[in-house]
Amino acid sequence: MPEVKYKRILLKISGEALLGDKSFGIDNKVLNKIAEELKEIYQYGVEIGIVIGGGNIFRGVAGEKQGMDRARADYMGMLATLINALALQDAIESKNIPCRVMSALEVKEVAETYIREKALKHLEKGRILILACGTGNPFFTTDTAAVLRALELKAKILFKATKVDGVYDKDPFKDPTAKKFDELTFDEALQKKLRVMDATAFSLARDYKLPVLVFNLLKYGNIKKALLGEKVGTLIK
Ligand code: UDP
Repeated sequence: MPEVKYKRILLKISGEALLGDKSFGIDNKVLNKIAEELKEIYQYGVEIGIVIGGGNIFRGVAGEKQGMDRARADYMGMLATLINALALQDAIESKNIPCRVMSALEVKEVAETYIREKALKHLEKGRILILACGTGNPFFTTDTAAVLRALELKAKILFKATKVDGVYDKDPFKDPTAKKFDELTFDEALQKKLRVMDATAFSLARDYKLPVLVFNLLKYGNIKKALLGEKVGTLIK
């Protein structure tokens, strides 16, 4: 069995990544691929926590633009993450891997409520743990939730899985001359005004020295590569 670089990881999957070819909702092919990859790394004995986003279904900012009260719209966004969490749990369990969903908002008929001690027990017992509903508070993002949970659950690193290969000096979708960074310090990312995560998430990771690896989730094998310490994405530390 290959030697893994990190014993416990926190993986942030954005809601957008679940879209696949769709413009709304969940593409089961993508879910299945993620579950396949997770199965592979699970077999290496890695403890896996996952924070899932909700942008494929609803974002608070979009509700606000349509005239909604922002806090209410954010609660809708958090509930969207719960839908994604249940879909991912289903895909993971279909691979015969034990998996639990914990929610930052109480919806006890659907998922366990997040309690740190219990979350740690799930990880120690080898269950993949999906953390839904972000931080449980409006005006935050699931990136901030990912950093927060990574810190409190003592993950060694945050894997921020996105649709791009890493952090670039310019938008790679708009400018073909955009250059990818292999490694950055938090201060360099700040100086160069690179948008790695939102400011709250970024400063929390920086203040508490949580390394963040940004990589493309849509390229099969990247999670494994990242775990084995192979060159993939951009490491911010
Ligand atoms: N959200 C929130 N508090 C949190 C996390 C998320 O209010 O702690 C809401 C917010 O409206 C956000 C939505 O949930 O737009 C979905 O999360 P996010 O945009 O982070 O998802 P992603 O971009 O990763 O798909």
